Amino acid sequence: MEKKKDIRALTKEQLREFFVKNGDKAFRGNQVYEWLWQKAAHSFDVMTNISKETRDKLEASFVINHIKVDQMQRSSDGTIKNAVRLHDDLIVESVLIPTKTRTTACVSSQVGCSLDCKFCATARLKRMRNLNPDEIYDQVVAIDNESRLYFDKPLSNIVFMGMGEPLMNYNNVLKAIDKITAPEGLGMSPKRITVSTSGVPKMIRKMADEEVKFKLAVSLHSAIDDIRTSIMPFNATFTLADLRESLQYWYAKTKSRITYEYVVWDGINDTKKDVDALVAFCKFAPSKVNLIEYNPIDDGIFQQATSKAVEMYVSVLEKNGIVVTVRRSRGKDIDAACGQLANKS
Ligand code: SAH
Repeated sequence: MEKKKDIRALTKEQLREFFVKNGDKAFRGNQVYEWLWQKAAHSFDVMTNISKETRDKLEASFVINHIKVDQMQRSSDGTIKNAVRLHDDLIVESVLIPTKTRTTACVSSQVGCSLDCKFCATARLKRMRNLNPDEIYDQVVAIDNESRLYFDKPLSNIVFMGMGEPLMNYNNVLKAIDKITAPEGLGMSPKRITVSTSGVPKMIRKMADEEVKFKLAVSLHSAIDDIRTSIMPFNATFTLADLRESLQYWYAKTKSRITYEYVVWDGINDTKKDVDALVAFCKFAPSKVNLIEYNPIDDGIFQQATSKAVEMYVSVLEKNGIVVTVRRSRGKDIDAACGQLANKS
């Protein structure tokens, strides 16, 4: 028997064509599209404005693959982590981070990760596969529902800082963002979406050329090649000079300020020389720095720098007119913080 196709892999136009080919009206395609995306239907049965006969026809040709939240954990600080089961039984994780004024979804873009950052738990999983646009979209819908249920407000922001390197799954991430921002999808503003990358220069240039409207964050962690390569080995290929040029290009095209994510580790990047290199890097394009707390992934090699070292970073950056914030991590007790997503369950 021929395998049924995932209906959400079709564009609206392709759905319309399906109906025309089957002797029906093209606008049925729009109706079904709305059920699939805006109303996040899990089955054809719920599509009540579609005749039973047509629903049977759809059922015979397609499946609606849907993620399933297998397990939800809540941290003492309110953070929620979902273990999400995909149609082929692989698992990814997504996180809801509440604050007084907003709720942020942290979503995954790949199962595992193709990069090999030494300080990140997800890297140990290796990359198993890319997520499809609908699998990314569904994570957002699940978190939006939880946000309404537990915090009485819709989801306000999305960060692609879960498992995976979003720019290594570029097409699917962009398709998902299209759906998230489309009026027929969730209708969210792209300004509330941040794509975080380890820094893939070629893809940053491509995004700039396409004049995307979401925000860009880069996980920098060091502005000195040798050090960065030792903790993020792909830096040997995607060097800082290349990254820097791509970021200048990004800013020239988008006029959108870049956020650098940065962890300060004991004995790795905690000296004045390290801060000075960061200051110099920040001058190439308008940017700000988020100093994030290290979340131990129990190997003992990496340790959070002293608060004195972090304070030195803050004061030197500020003296140089660079906006810097110090981020406390959230959801540590349930392994939901940055770099801790690794399917322990
Ligand atoms: N691949 C993307 C997105 C996933 S990582 C990227 O690199 O940006 C999300 C963020 O968590 C990145 O800034 C990453 O450097 C950071 N991170 C990874 N492991 C961490 C850890 N153990 N503690 C704190 N932050 C970590």
